[in-house]
Amino acid sequence: MTSHYDVIVVGLGAMGSATLYQLAKRGASVLGIDRFAPPHAMGSSHGKSRIIRQAYFEDPCYVPLVQRAYECWAQLEAESGTALFQQTGGLMIGDPSSEVITGTLRSAREHTLPHQVLTTAEIRARFPAFSPRPQDIGVFEDRAGILAPERAIAAFLGLARAPKGGRAAALHTNETMRSWRAIDGGVEVATDVGVYRADRLVLTVGAWAKQILAELSLPLTVQRNVLYWFTPLQQAEHFTPAHFPIFLQELESGIAWYGFADTGDGVKLALHQYGQTVDPDAPRTPVSADEVAFMRSLIAQHMPHANGALRDSATCFYTNTPDGHFVVDIHPECPAVVVASPCSGHGFKFASALGEVLADLASGQKPVFEIEPFSLARFAAR
Ligand SMILES: Cc1cc2nc3c(=O)[nH]c(=O)nc-3n(C[C@H](O)[C@H](O)[C@H](O)COP(=O)(O)OP(=O)(O)OC[C@H]3O[C@@H](n4cnc5c(N)ncnc54)[C@H](O)[C@@H]3O)c2cc1C
Repeated sequence: MTSHYDVIVVGLGAMGSATLYQLAKRGASVLGIDRFAPPHAMGSSHGKSRIIRQAYFEDPCYVPLVQRAYECWAQLEAESGTALFQQTGGLMIGDPSSEVITGTLRSAREHTLPHQVLTTAEIRARFPAFSPRPQDIGVFEDRAGILAPERAIAAFLGLARAPKGGRAAALHTNETMRSWRAIDGGVEVATDVGVYRADRLVLTVGAWAKQILAELSLPLTVQRNVLYWFTPLQQAEHFTPAHFPIFLQELESGIAWYGFADTGDGVKLALHQYGQTVDPDAPRTPVSADEVAFMRSLIAQHMPHANGALRDSATCFYTNTPDGHFVVDIHPECPAVVVASPCSGHGFKFASALGEVLADLASGQKPVFEIEPFSLARFAAR
């Protein structure tokens, strides 16, 4: 007999695990399916840390959503008894006309967010690990910091399986969805293990969205991004969370890099939106000596004391849209299906709030947040 659920969530990374947790809490009968066993290192949600910040240079429309996300992360910490957020402050660096600086100031001013504008000399004095260029200024916000992605996904899934109130979700890991189809006003999902039915389906499949939603011809590209952890060469105290905020610096030629304090694994540094387009199913290419050398050349110029031993590196997928904004919508041909690909390299911080939004959509409710900027229709208009 085919099992029937209120909602099936396929893909239990950041977005899917948050959605499953919300639905279980609301008492829905829900099945979560993932091809791996989350939290895992095969998609977009691994690497020990993610930035959260609220003066959002990408667009002020994200600010209310991230403010709700802060509340939801705190709620998840309380319910799960797990520490997920470490406040370190956040420093955006660039020349005054850069997108990072103008966009951060725009969001800060439109939403009256507390922030401080720092000169080059002030950045150097206050945060001595940084060696900004003479033309750089900084925008500092106190509330930014570090989220723990693997712990967050484990917390969402743990509470979905055993919610405090609501109804326990069924979890099928190491099970791959092969296809889905609309049937009798609902959906039928076929995996390599079985066939399941539900009133609604949420597809939060990350880097696999383009192939799973092939009928929509989504203009998504999957980009391989590299993460590096370095042991500081000297003055290790300058890289501790008390002295080293999360940062993102826009450099010449459109390159931006970002990083995190040393919380025990080394200083984590990475380039933003910088990597080859890849097939998520192809064998993973190891980090090359040339890639490490390029990162070291940036460190030598902009953060010389970080240039010690390379402790670790990893690769991870960005799933990019042409405009850098998310996809959160109802499938245009099947209203029982909710589609979400909130990545473009900046989605994690929102996962706790997007879980609510996706649970609303999967329950037939209008979300309290405006999701029009994330609509599928914007691609058709191109
Ligand atoms: C290197 C890197 C750094 C980043 N830094 C930041 C940051 O600092 N701050 C920030 O906010 N965001 C950041 N992001 C973006 C953020 O991490 C992503 O937006 C977010 O994690 C995406 O979550 P997701 O649930 O869409 O994808 P994933 O977490 O990858 O989940 C997708 C899931 O779908 C499953 N799946 C796929 N196909 C199937 C199938 N057929 N059947 C069953 N299961 C399937 C996969 O196994 C996977 O578990 C970063 C991303 C990367 C890669």
